[in-house]
Amino acid sequence: MAKRKINIITLGCSKNMVDSEYLVAQLTGNNFEVLHDSNDESAKTVVVNTCGFIDEAKQESVNTILNLARAKRAGIIDRLFVFGCLAERYKKDLIAEIPEVDDFFGVRGLQDVVKAIGGDYKESLVGERVAVSPAHYAYLKISEGCNRHCSYCIIPKIRGKHVSVPKELLLNQTRKLAERGVKELLVIAQDSTSYGIDLYRRKCLAELLHEISEVAGIERIRLHYAYPAGFPAALLAEMRDNPKICKYLDVPFQHVSDKVLRNMRRGITRKGSYDFIEKIRREIPDIALRTTLMVGHPGEGKAEFEELKQFVREVRFERLGVFPYSEEEGTYSAREFNDSLSNKQKRERADEIMLIQNKISAELNSAKMGKQYRIIIDGEEGDYYTGRTEYDSPEVDGEVLIPRAEGKLLPGEFVDVKIIATEDYDLYGTRA
Ligand code: SF4
Repeated sequence: MAKRKINIITLGCSKNMVDSEYLVAQLTGNNFEVLHDSNDESAKTVVVNTCGFIDEAKQESVNTILNLARAKRAGIIDRLFVFGCLAERYKKDLIAEIPEVDDFFGVRGLQDVVKAIGGDYKESLVGERVAVSPAHYAYLKISEGCNRHCSYCIIPKIRGKHVSVPKELLLNQTRKLAERGVKELLVIAQDSTSYGIDLYRRKCLAELLHEISEVAGIERIRLHYAYPAGFPAALLAEMRDNPKICKYLDVPFQHVSDKVLRNMRRGITRKGSYDFIEKIRREIPDIALRTTLMVGHPGEGKAEFEELKQFVREVRFERLGVFPYSEEEGTYSAREFNDSLSNKQKRERADEIMLIQNKISAELNSAKMGKQYRIIIDGEEGDYYTGRTEYDSPEVDGEVLIPRAEGKLLPGEFVDVKIIATEDYDLYGTRA
């Protein structure tokens, strides 16, 4: 008898992706055929793993569910289940508004999802994942939840307190991912730099990364979602001295004005931000810093926005993303502050920041002309193979394009490339 097909659709961040991978492992272990983000209409049961972080993401989740509700009414699918952050936040409203959904489950609802689909939750498969990212890189979610109090953020309310994943379980996952051909590991969490504070009563991300780097097959380790305040000194040393740890750090600063940072309850000052960046660049001169900024948070007047633009001009981040403030009910900011700027004004500010960043990125890229880099191949695009230096994270940063005419390359392969042309974000290279 043909296996029943389940299609899992993952929305939101890479942490959601890992949750979906746990679900794929459980359902595969129950003899279901599991598809991920597939358009295959033969999968009569669909599970949506939702995001509930900010307006845009919530809207995308709601639209996805509504489209599938229509498909269910049309008889294209039989069963529809929803889990994750949006369901965690708005279960009652969603039940009332979208009756086509068979059931809703929160962020800790994995067991219930498996049961609702008709499987048994297998303790033997706890911590097991079936990677849905390309075979040569994978995400390693080292903790769940967050203990910080950023005033605009609803995540601690959705995901709860910071809970580190035991080191043995992470090393076990890493070994299995490496056995399956994973070469690059992206370390993720809500707040990765707090790893261990609960379980081991101290921050011990440096040790974890060191032990991960000793797993055979893992060639690159990339750190995401670091917190700028209280950055462990041992981690900086490990990043400097460990050749397998990419000279790359994703560290969201959100803002730089003391007034706005206070309103955001970020626990860092303007001076603290500049000092931290100066220290990191002194210790690891070629590090690529990726950051995320937020514009339009209450308290950001013209002067504070000018400060933010000056911060971007002066620091010259290698990689930068910017988001407009989204007032989220249940947050400190929504309770205490007036969201005075229109979405249009916020959008305009975000665009202004990106205009400055585009120019910086183009200048930083043009300085790479003629230089040689070790590239991991990700795939193909037209006449080119695409790949990334250690300074580029998949899906969010730039790519290196190498002519296919220069010979076959496979995803996950490393190749040395000399840069022969540059654009604002992407580079063109020839095999060295
Ligand atoms: S560090 Fe701040 S922004 Fe990030 S998840 Fe925690 S509370 Fe939210």
